[in-house]
Amino acid sequence: MSNNEAAASNFIRQIIDEDLKSGRNAGRVATRFPPEPNGYLHLGHAKSICLNFGIAQDYGGTCNLRFDDTNPEKENVEYIEAIKEDVRWLGYRWTELFFASDYFEPLYGFAEDLIRAGKAYVCDLGAEQMRDYRGTLTEAGRDSPFRERSVEENLDLFRRMRAGEFEDGARVLRAKIDMASPNINLRDPTLYRIRRGAVHHQTGEAWPIYPMYDYTHTLSDALEGITHSLCTLEFEDHRPLYNWFLENLDVPAQPRQYEFGRLNLEYTVLSKRKLTELVAEGHVQGWDDPRMPTIAAIRRRGYPPEAVQDFCDRIGVTKSDGMVEMALLENSVREALDATAPRAMAVLNPLKVVIENYPEGQVEEAVAANHPKDEAMGSRLIPFTREVYIDRNDFMEVAPNNKYKRLALGGEVRLRNAYVIRCDRAIKNEAGDVVELRCSYDPATLGANPEGRKVKGVIHWVSASHGVPAEVRLYDRLFTVPNPGAVRDHDWRDDLNPESLIILQAVVEPMLSGASAGASFQFEREGYFCVDSRDSAPERLVFNRTITLRDTWAKLSARS
Ligand code: ATP
Ligand code: MG
Repeated sequence: MSNNEAAASNFIRQIIDEDLKSGRNAGRVATRFPPEPNGYLHLGHAKSICLNFGIAQDYGGTCNLRFDDTNPEKENVEYIEAIKEDVRWLGYRWTELFFASDYFEPLYGFAEDLIRAGKAYVCDLGAEQMRDYRGTLTEAGRDSPFRERSVEENLDLFRRMRAGEFEDGARVLRAKIDMASPNINLRDPTLYRIRRGAVHHQTGEAWPIYPMYDYTHTLSDALEGITHSLCTLEFEDHRPLYNWFLENLDVPAQPRQYEFGRLNLEYTVLSKRKLTELVAEGHVQGWDDPRMPTIAAIRRRGYPPEAVQDFCDRIGVTKSDGMVEMALLENSVREALDATAPRAMAVLNPLKVVIENYPEGQVEEAVAANHPKDEAMGSRLIPFTREVYIDRNDFMEVAPNNKYKRLALGGEVRLRNAYVIRCDRAIKNEAGDVVELRCSYDPATLGANPEGRKVKGVIHWVSASHGVPAEVRLYDRLFTVPNPGAVRDHDWRDDLNPESLIILQAVVEPMLSGASAGASFQFEREGYFCVDSRDSAPERLVFNRTITLRDTWAKLSARS
């Protein structure tokens, strides 16, 4: 099955196909993505975005972006702007942009309708009493002493709630459903609460009362004419309440709710609450710290949006929550970058090499292809000089075995796109560390095999005089275990990877000094890197490691 077929065959698309066949909704398909602007979007949201917007695209339907903004204290405009940018970056365009707060007036009207129909009442129980009256999973709840208030009294009190006459928490409006229902969501759920002091980012101080999530969400769907309201599995138990609102109010449309499994991803956490804590407690440097699973962070880290879409296609949409391997996402990233990222040479742990028989002051231009599999990407010239840097990891005084293909004392290696060099001497400091190599080159080996001997190893290098210094940030997984905090009596933060960021002072080929913010490259033999969009400047380059060339974690877990 190809990726597209997998995406096409998910159970929600099957439901839509049947609805279209039966003529339901007159052939209309309308979805929405409804984030609460109380944090940045993460990869879990990306799954929901790809699902909702993807369906609208494929069925010629619509998909709205709707901010579910009923908790003014936790929300703000920074989050709203970030969410819009993230959706656009993923490659989607919303049909219309709404705020749930756009509907505060009609929602208030619907609440009065419920009161007039004897289906809602103002309740004066405090939060604790309310909990007590609600009962438990095994025990029915009890009716509130305020449940039988008259319609007139309820209308009067609700209007006074709206007028701002009562303190926060003094009263709530509740639906009158069934305190003995086995589904706790139907035990007279709260519809409105008082928040007099709150200043809302959209409505300011116009409203001292705010509608609750289930009520708002259902009616927003109905008012927008949403046909398929897709949400995650934890809302399955809320569906009877969703349907209760639709049955008991004169709404303009009858959306249907369907639940799908949320995305859980290994080696990270996908919960706004936990991500907020990571930021607030300083475990990371912000919402867009490249180690975070937020869309803003993976964008900064250099993940291409096509890779996220490809990943969402591959994981599909099912009716159960599952844990997805991080390696799956990383493979999508590698595949996308392998095809598009130009190659470059960067020495991450520089060790100076002096080529003693190469003329001082001479500069030759080595020709290097920008992509080994894509000639259309062209080639570039790289200055070759008497002094170059190679990576410390490409040198050992004594080759450990005959499979060793890098440089050793007395051994030869090819400098990629240039000559074969032989290491004649290693210069050490007082501590005995190698600080410089003295080598010689064979002028007959430019683009040609050396005479009478085989040189198998090829290493990357950068001219010492022409190379450009750069800070390189090696990012790794944020947690050391697949399921952080899974072990009992153990905090999820204890599983943070202390080596999730290592900073190196590297030297990169001169062409890279002109790279624009966000541009991606494959640093040959090292991995994929991008120009950091926040901190890099032409005179102070900063590169982020997007991903290693191979899955280094697979090797580790195979070993342990
Ligand atoms: P969190 O659980 O991280 O706090 P949330 O569900 O409260 O997230 P919302 O802003 O309410 O965040 O989510 C907007 C939409 O994204 C919802 O429809 C929600 O179901 C979906 N969504 C959130 N997290 C995931 C996830 N891990 N997998 C799939 N969809 C998700
Ligand atoms: Mg939510």
